[in-house]
Amino acid sequence: MLFQSVIGQIELKRQLTQTVREGRIAHTQLFWGGEGCGALPLALALAQYIHCPNRTEEDACGVCPACNKMQKLIHPDVHFAVPVNSTKEITSDKKPVTEHFLAQWREALSGNPYLTEQEWYKMLGTENKQGNISVHEASRIIEKINYKPFEAEYKIMIIWLPERMNVQAANRLLKLIEEPPDKTLFFLVSEDIMRIIATIRSRTQQVRLPPIEEDALAKKLQEQFSLPEAHARKLARAAAGSYSEALRLVQSEKETDEHFERFATLMRTAYAANGLALMNWAEDAAKWGREQQKSFLIYAERLIRESFTLNKQAGDVVYLLGEEEMFAKNIAPFVNERNVANIYNAFNIAIAHLAQNGNAKILFTDLALQITRLIKA
Ligand SMILES: [Zn+2]
Repeated sequence: MLFQSVIGQIELKRQLTQTVREGRIAHTQLFWGGEGCGALPLALALAQYIHCPNRTEEDACGVCPACNKMQKLIHPDVHFAVPVNSTKEITSDKKPVTEHFLAQWREALSGNPYLTEQEWYKMLGTENKQGNISVHEASRIIEKINYKPFEAEYKIMIIWLPERMNVQAANRLLKLIEEPPDKTLFFLVSEDIMRIIATIRSRTQQVRLPPIEEDALAKKLQEQFSLPEAHARKLARAAAGSYSEALRLVQSEKETDEHFERFATLMRTAYAANGLALMNWAEDAAKWGREQQKSFLIYAERLIRESFTLNKQAGDVVYLLGEEEMFAKNIAPFVNERNVANIYNAFNIAIAHLAQNGNAKILFTDLALQITRLIKA
């Protein structure tokens, strides 16, 4: 990971590169900040900067063999210890440690270095169990630290989420973290430092990450998702400096757009009373996943309620934004005091049938026919 790929955090990048250039790297550093502000990417970028023989003032070169290995997370002088738990394949009698899951770890980080703890557990398949850094992991850390560096000047141990370390593991590592062997660096990366065992926390030099600067986050979103500048800025502000939160917001907007499109198609087709198109719509809906069907029905119910409010209050409504508002203005004339309760009910009944595992094709066909009848009322 290059510093230039870490979003924002300009001041910290400057300070960290300076400590390397001046040869005064702290041997045990604790990078901490809220979820999505980039503590792990920053630690990865610092490790790459330290290992790159061709680094400049600001960054590693990105093309030398050391950078190449860092980018693939296969550099022999960088080790990882992260929370894990037993899975179907790695059962608890195998004493799960990070090494069992290195392939998943590399895949997860290359997909998104701003990985969240929950995303990691999902990827691991620990089935809702929280991970931990166990005493077995502590033993593996001690073994690895005793190797000589293979290729680089330093060996670096990155411990992600030390707040998941239990007391037994912490006790075993205390001395090592306080006084690492020569040319050994510990980078601890935390989202919740108050939950790190105090004896460990007090032996580190803290690097606190503030939320990502709004400008930098907006620019990243604008580029990544090809958004208009104003829209990217709005999202960045709502995400309050967390890239992970910004990604969730983008995802949820995307889902809302899809729901809107589906709802609009249903209403247009129902108004035109186009039987064949209605059957196609219902067949298509029957193929969505259960969760998607449920969230669509809830969304549609809300939109019906709000378009009726719009109809009654003649444009004086605040719940709807952008495209939804345009549509509500168009559909509002067909949803009136006589039919709104029944249309609302039709969606409500569909939600109940879905919850009882009703046949999706029958359910959506029935819904489409009812809406057609009611919209004409
Ligand atoms: Zn390099």
